[in-house]
Amino acid sequence: PQLANQIAAGEVVERPASVVKELVENSIDAGSTQIEIDIEKGGHKRIKIRDNGQGIAHDELELALSRHATSKIATLDDLEQILSLGFRGEALASISSVSRLTLTSKPANQEQAWQAHCHGRDMAVKLNPVAHPNGTTIDAADLFYNTPARRKFLRTEKTEFQHIDDIIKRIALSHHKVGFILRHNGKTVRKLAGRAEQDKSKRIGDLLGQKFIGNSTYLKTDYDSIKMEAWLGSLSEVRSSNDCQFSFVNGRGMRDKLILHALRQAYEMTWGIAEQPAFVVFLSVPARDVDVNVHPAKHEVRFQQARLVHDFIVQAVSQALSEDAA
Ligand code: ADP
Ligand code: MG
Repeated sequence: PQLANQIAAGEVVERPASVVKELVENSIDAGSTQIEIDIEKGGHKRIKIRDNGQGIAHDELELALSRHATSKIATLDDLEQILSLGFRGEALASISSVSRLTLTSKPANQEQAWQAHCHGRDMAVKLNPVAHPNGTTIDAADLFYNTPARRKFLRTEKTEFQHIDDIIKRIALSHHKVGFILRHNGKTVRKLAGRAEQDKSKRIGDLLGQKFIGNSTYLKTDYDSIKMEAWLGSLSEVRSSNDCQFSFVNGRGMRDKLILHALRQAYEMTWGIAEQPAFVVFLSVPARDVDVNVHPAKHEVRFQQARLVHDFIVQAVSQALSEDAA
């Protein structure tokens, strides 16, 4: 199975940041409220994620490391939702096939924590009792040690870490109640306290700066089954020009052209061409109305009713901007 896992890994695991994304999403799915991410050498050397989520029971550890083992499909409705989000139950198996991985976990109702690691040609899973608090730690060391072709594509430590930080920023924006600590080579780079349900804008301020929050237009609206919540500013007001455009569709970070296009159009209608949007936009549409690209590493989405979504955004944003300007 190792070869099949490595082939799958080629799709799931592009670079250290994609490992971080899959692991942190698993921690969030497990209901964690605190997630610590330790990175060594841009993730080439080590990616370690520790959470306080529900954990994995002793007799499910081995299964969690095998392909197409997902505990997340309980009903047909789930299946539809999950397919649309791109869950495929192969992240852990893929990551363990291209790194030296140990998985340590303790569900609250289990006395003992257990640690699993794969070894040998056939990647047999070995289990040992260890000490560990409630929750899960995944330690993936020496990424791509056995796939030199892929290792060659890794960029510098700094660049790979930048990608990891971008991923954490995105995930932290859309999960403001979860606390995060991100460390690189032992040094704390981000420390984000879990925020209260109603304090989404505080988390946005933590990440994009108070100035952005203070100067942006807030918008919350819906049309039929489409919902939108947004903080709308301009690039001239934020610290750096390149990474202040964040859109989320059904809670997932997407680099979406349609949303960007609609925002540009609304800004242009309100202010003329000079303003470039800086924004955090949360869009929610029924799961059946979107196709998320099946490629798990991409962040693209296709709306069934693209025109409708686009025009709704243009309308809502231009109205909010001009009301705010008045
Ligand atoms: P998927 O997330 O698509 O189900 P993964 O390969 O990412 O597949 O994970 C496999 C399974 O391992 C998950 O379905 C879940 O049951 C379990 N798992 C992985 N990470 C965690 C975690 N941090 N906490 C609890 N369970 C986890
Ligand atoms: Mg997963």
